[in-house]
Formats: sequence, structure tokens, C-alpha cells
Amino acid sequence: MKNNIEIKRFIDVHVPMFSCNLRCSYCYVGQHQINNTKNILFKYTPHQVRKALTIERLGGVCHFNVCGMGETLIPEELIEYIKVILENGHSVMIVTNGVLSERFNALMKFPRELKDKLGFKFSLHYLELRRLGLIDTFFANVNNVRKNGCSISVEITANDSYEPYINDIKETCLKNVGALCHVSVPRDDSSAGIKLMSKHSIEEFYDIWKTFDSPMFEFKMRHWGEERTEFCHAGEWSGMLNIATGSLISCSCQKGTYQNIFENPDNNIKFYPVGKCKVPHCFNGHSFLTFGVITEIDEEHYVDIRDRVDNIGQHWLNPYMLSQFSHRLIEYNTINRGGVILVRQKIAKQILFTYNAIRKIVHKVYFRDDILW
Ligand code: SF4
Repeated sequence: MKNNIEIKRFIDVHVPMFSCNLRCSYCYVGQHQINNTKNILFKYTPHQVRKALTIERLGGVCHFNVCGMGETLIPEELIEYIKVILENGHSVMIVTNGVLSERFNALMKFPRELKDKLGFKFSLHYLELRRLGLIDTFFANVNNVRKNGCSISVEITANDSYEPYINDIKETCLKNVGALCHVSVPRDDSSAGIKLMSKHSIEEFYDIWKTFDSPMFEFKMRHWGEERTEFCHAGEWSGMLNIATGSLISCSCQKGTYQNIFENPDNNIKFYPVGKCKVPHCFNGHSFLTFGVITEIDEEHYVDIRDRVDNIGQHWLNPYMLSQFSHRLIEYNTINRGGVILVRQKIAKQILFTYNAIRKIVHKVYFRDDILW
């Protein structure tokens, strides 16, 4: 297979798995075990998904970031879906808590050319792993996939409960992956605004966690709570896809743009830019903005958010992802902000919105089928 390292779109893939095998004190899913008895119903077969997500239909090679609300890798069927996306020529990164060894072993049976395009974002839930005696298992899985040629990235969510252990966390990371983990910033979901989940002021919080030298942390903190006023190409150069239902929306702020892209794989997918963002804060800006959905923001690249160079000079990302994540979406897309195009897109979006609203009502009334997104 020829390696084509372009990046046409960034697709954030939602796996509707709402249960988890860990119980982190700061996590809503782990604590409440939402829907923990319910298996995901994948409404379309891997074969249908293969036909729906071809390079031709998506307009080029895309990067898929696959993440569940709980632990992404719990549903065994997901492995086949990951495989068909890779076989179609795209790259995939899976967000995981890193302890389901049997899933990593299964994924490592993929052929080498697929593993070159596969990466894992390991979330280090340090205290929960310590409580369960799973720290060695976590890093054994990280190093297993790394040894197999996949990309890795290790990230911790900055939480006040970790503060007494910061030195331990750093030593553990240096010992096992040769570099400090990246640091993500937690949001208090119980508040209506953009509130930091911490007892500290923003300044105190920043001073505690900046010691990890994480570009992800720096980018997130620099833009924390900012409203975006620029033109955003999310929806046109990116998308959010529910892998179980085929629902595609432009971004988290644009639920009305729902389309099912698995149902009729011969139909064109409509990629419309969001334009003016409607949410008060770009929640996953460390992905969308660093890939460049807002062209005016020219700061860290996605490669800076995911990669580290370890203490023997080896990158966490493999050569394929190192190269792909160094690009910005503008390099493989054109800017169409002309008035005529925007008006046409606005009308089409309105029609799509109305159609979906009617469709949802009909489904609710007649089929009681709540459509995710
Ligand atoms: S600014 Fe962020 S949240 Fe808003 S539309 Fe763009 S990518 Fe989505």
C-alpha cells in the first residue's frame, strides 16, 4: 500500500460506549456507570462502513480520532470497524485507558502497513491504575503497540487529586516511555459556563501543571474560555461521526447538521463549514484548531500536541503520523468564503436542519427511536 500522507479531513469518531472498566473519582461515566448493561448496537456492518468511508467519497485521506464516552475499546466489534477504516487508506488514533490487553493484542495482529497508520492516545488515570495495581499493565500495553510500529501518545487529565503524586507521575512516565506525559485540562460539566474543574484559580492551576512542559496544556490554557469570532471550517474540513449510527455532524455546536452517511454510500456527503461558532469555547480546540479549522490560528500543530521525543531520541509518533500531523488542513482544501457559496450553503443547511427536525419528531412519535446526534 502506498503511503499517502495528506490530510483532507479530521474526523472525530464517537463510539457510543457509556461504561468503563475504571472508576476514576473525577469521571462522571466511571462513577455512575451510565447504561453499563447495554451493548452498543452497531446499525451498519463493517462492509457497509467500508463502502461509506472511501477516500473518494471523503475527498482524500482523513485522520479518524476514535473515542468513547467510557472506555473506547470495550466493544470487541470495534476492532473490525477500525480495520476497514485503515484498509480504506485513512489513519486512526484510538483514545483508550490502556488496560484491556486482549484488545491491544488483537489490534497488533493487523498487517504492518495498517499498524503504520494506527496510533493510540493513552489516558493515564494514575491513581485508579495504582489502586488496581494496573500501572505495569498500562505501560506494557503502551510499549507493546509502540514495539509493533504504532504511534503512541500518553496524556493525563490534570486533577487536583494528583497533586501529591506529580513527581511520581513524572518518574513513572520517564521510566516507561522516556518522556513526560502531555496534560489535558478538565472542565466542570456540572457548571453552565466554562469552568475549570479545580479548587485553584486559573493562575495557580497553570503554575502547578506547566512543569510538564506540555504543548497540549499550553495551547489549551492559552485559549481557555475564549469565544471564537473567526470563520471556522469545521464541518467542511472536519466532522464528528457516530460510528454506530452513521450520524455525521459538523461540530459539537451544530447538531442540526445531522446526516446519515452510512445509509446510502453512493450519495455525496455534504460538507458545510460552521462559519461563526455558536459555543462559548472550542472544547476540543487542541485537535480542531491545531489542525487548522480556523486558519488565522497559527500556533502549535497537532504533531506538537501528540508527539514527544524520548530520552533516547525516539519519537512517540511513528514516521507516518509524524508527517501527517505536521500538515494543516488548508494544504489540502481550498477556502470558499464567497458570498454566493455561503448563501447557497446557508440555504442548504437550513433545508437539512428542517428535514432533520421533522425526521426526529416523526421517529419520536411513531418509532420512539431517539436518534443520537
Ligand atoms: S470553533 Fe471549535 S467548537 Fe466552534 S465550530 Fe470551530 S471547531 Fe467547532
